[in-house]
Amino acid sequence: MRAVLINPYEIGRQPFGLAEPAALLQQAGCTVDCLDLSLQRLDPALLAQADLVGVYVAMHTATRIAVEAIPRIRRHAPRAHLCAYGLYAPMNEARLSVLGVDTVLDGEFESRMLALVEGLASGNGAAYATASSKLPEVPFVVPDRSKLPPLSQYARLVTSDGVEKTVGFAETSRGCKHFCRHCPVVPIYEGRFRIVPRDVVAADVRNQVLAGAEHISFGDPDFLNGPGHARRVVCALHAEFPDVTYDATVKIEHILRYRELLPELKDTGCLFITSAVESVDDRVLAHLNKGHTKDDFVTAVRLLRNTGISLTPTFVAFTPWTSLDGYLDLLRTIAELGLVDSVPPIQLAIRLLVPRGSHLLKLEGFEKRLRDFDSNTLGYPWGHADHRVDALQEAVQACAARAEQNGLSRAETFAEIWRLAHRAADRPVPVLPPRSSAELVPHLSEPWYCCAEPTNQQLASF
Ligand code: SF4
Repeated sequence: MRAVLINPYEIGRQPFGLAEPAALLQQAGCTVDCLDLSLQRLDPALLAQADLVGVYVAMHTATRIAVEAIPRIRRHAPRAHLCAYGLYAPMNEARLSVLGVDTVLDGEFESRMLALVEGLASGNGAAYATASSKLPEVPFVVPDRSKLPPLSQYARLVTSDGVEKTVGFAETSRGCKHFCRHCPVVPIYEGRFRIVPRDVVAADVRNQVLAGAEHISFGDPDFLNGPGHARRVVCALHAEFPDVTYDATVKIEHILRYRELLPELKDTGCLFITSAVESVDDRVLAHLNKGHTKDDFVTAVRLLRNTGISLTPTFVAFTPWTSLDGYLDLLRTIAELGLVDSVPPIQLAIRLLVPRGSHLLKLEGFEKRLRDFDSNTLGYPWGHADHRVDALQEAVQACAARAEQNGLSRAETFAEIWRLAHRAADRPVPVLPPRSSAELVPHLSEPWYCCAEPTNQQLASF
């Protein structure tokens, strides 16, 4: 059987979600090819021979791109069984089915994908294509990354000295113990998480270091859901490759709870931590059930700074509860905490996404704020009660896009957004709090986000 696995987009990462099933399907006797549409185009000749095409949708932007790509994939692969898999597949099942997708699998797809292949081989594929409410056993194997573009073509680490380094991407766990209402992980995992066996992580990291990785970006939803596992993984990484650095995503609550682990993370090579701060308004944080307050965020900044680890905060800057004053407070807080250089401008434009199945829909009265589900944007649109907030969001988004095109620095873009926001609130534009220096913080060359609009270039690239 010939299988083609396709990744629409994954914020500049070489996708585990292709490399791991590629290894698994090969062990099951399939011939597997991979296409990463963030770097490659659809290959009609390859698709024409495919018996199975798997499209990996691990994030909202990827799903939006997949919706555009699937009709073309279907035309090129008329006889293939088309399967969409990953976190965003079940919540968009209706839309994907209309486009011709035969099977939808969630983020715990491995055993069902194997069963699907067996079913297709025996002529009974659809019978195996059922989703389950239980987390199935996952036969994790060491990913085969040889079918993907080389790591050097993906996002790079930019160090605080301005040096660029090759990045590998690994996952040590899936799912999450927490219930942040806006998070796409929650409807699928409902407070559960599972670890990727340490030997699989170690072998995957080793293979990537041998392929040139100088830094590993851990893509777990939250690296400290299993702190013992995380510690063992990074200690083993550091013992084997003492010069390899890493970054991870950790929620503010965990930075505070596991503060005694931070020096060990630093000593084993952690350069920066990405954390979904989302807001500095405690009322908004309560609506999102984030489990932290503005004061906790400030404490986390101090703890990490004292340890020598950079923080990359991410935000959902625009929600139905965001006021113009609240947005100004967000900008002021970022500036006062000395984080202007740590925040990619796109983060200041992110608008709350409400996908199907979102736990936000359980919030009393929230549904009344929403319009009908939009099958193009794959979410429930909402408008702010204060039209100036929506207008500001559009202006900030356009500003961030312009800055990207024109190569403006984060600080220059922040100053422009600072002006836009004060004008929107009809306030004089105060002088920004002084920065100690034009700091370069370690970061990846492609910013982290999961729900921005795909660009025209992304939609046209395949
Ligand atoms: S936002 Fe992070 S901590 Fe919250 S549920 Fe999602 S993955 Fe877990």
